[in-house]
Amino acid sequence: MTRAETPGTPPGRTDRGRSARTADVVVIGAGIVGASCAWHLARRGLSVAVVEREAAPALGSTGRSAAGVRVQFTTEANIAFSMHSLPVFRDFHDHHGHEIGYRDIGYLLLVPPARWDDHLAAVALQRRMGAPVEVMAPGEARRFLPVATEGLAGATYGPWDGVIDPHMATHAWVAMGRARKVAYHFGAAATRIEPEPRGWRISCGDTDFSCGHIVNAAGAWSGLVGRMAGLAVPVRPKRIQIFLSAPVADERVYPLTIDLETGVYLRSEGERVIFGRDTHADDGFTEGVDWGWLEDVLLTGVDRFPWWVDLGVDRGGSWWGYYGVTPDHNPVIGFNPGAGRWVDACGFSGHGIMHAPATGLCVAELVADGSAHTLDATAFRHGRFDSGGVPHEAHIF
Ligand SMILES: Cc1cc2nc3c(=O)[nH]c(=O)nc-3n(C[C@H](O)[C@H](O)[C@H](O)COP(=O)(O)OP(=O)(O)OC[C@H]3O[C@@H](n4cnc5c(N)ncnc54)[C@H](O)[C@@H]3O)c2cc1C
Repeated sequence: MTRAETPGTPPGRTDRGRSARTADVVVIGAGIVGASCAWHLARRGLSVAVVEREAAPALGSTGRSAAGVRVQFTTEANIAFSMHSLPVFRDFHDHHGHEIGYRDIGYLLLVPPARWDDHLAAVALQRRMGAPVEVMAPGEARRFLPVATEGLAGATYGPWDGVIDPHMATHAWVAMGRARKVAYHFGAAATRIEPEPRGWRISCGDTDFSCGHIVNAAGAWSGLVGRMAGLAVPVRPKRIQIFLSAPVADERVYPLTIDLETGVYLRSEGERVIFGRDTHADDGFTEGVDWGWLEDVLLTGVDRFPWWVDLGVDRGGSWWGYYGVTPDHNPVIGFNPGAGRWVDACGFSGHGIMHAPATGLCVAELVADGSAHTLDATAFRHGRFDSGGVPHEAHIF
């Protein structure tokens, strides 16, 4: 049996004879994206059930992220999603009464000469769209942390950027959803999905759900969920690793700092730093920390951050998780072309935390109104991969 924490709509008989719980919408996945979608959908007056195979919210990628939020993107679509989402995080407590741990520690991007002109063009776009971003000479980056400036053309700093607590944010949306009668079912893995005359039937163990719409918010597992219904969802898993240092003797809070030349990044985590680098390896659902990768990250990063020469590493505190990635590393948010009444909201790479508010809004409008109209989500549509794609996003981290 699945554990239904809120009774939801009582079971009814379906044409297959087995009883099923009914809802207007079933959201698959209770990570930050699913929880945001569920609340936004319920706010539109729809009855919503969420099925999550884990025993609690935020136990997938959401609980393993670096928690960063930023406006420093290069495409209008991503900047617009951030410009909607960051104020939601900043004002969350005032608007909803839940603390979600937003701290504006900033993102500091260290830019090599080959990328400087394009970078400045992106900053101009960010500013046109209302984002406060500072441009600085390389040496000014030392205001924030010790950094070697050889080979840098400059740096940019986003003072709105920072971190949230993804657990707190997800649990907040779950609580807000419950207050609007969203039925959360934990320990409920969707194992079979079939079309019905007016929607879908989802089997989770011995509990079935019958619904008008499905929202696929299953993160790195979204491609597998699509396959259950015979649908192509272009999302695959990618393992990402984060290392935790021993305490660092500097009282400053280091912003989330990314060396664009190498992809090495770090930020403060209490008196320590977390750090890493994209592996570019396609190791799918591989589990665990690859300690061989630690050496590569340290050797690559030490030129930019010379204090890494004697950086202690806390092996027990280091971790790994999955990105869900699409061919262009931007999400798919929209109706699946293979079926009606199926909305995908997945494939966020390293942006699912920061774009969860905007995504929930778009998904609710797609289901309730037939299209997303407050924000333009067409850049994230299915089908872009076959039809010439969309503007290239250079700030995929
Ligand atoms: C190391 C790391 C660092 C990151 N850093 C950042 C960052 O700084 N900023 C940022 O914005 N993003 C970051 N990300 C990405 C971010 O974590 C994800 O984009 C985000 O968590 C996606 O949320 P989600 O709700 O879509 O997925 P998830 O949190 O993975 O939730 C999906 C849920 O679906 C459930 N599920 C799967 N299959 C089924 C099924 N068949 N039935 C029922 N339930 C199912 C899973 O159990 C899971 O709980 C990072 C990710 C990693 C791994």
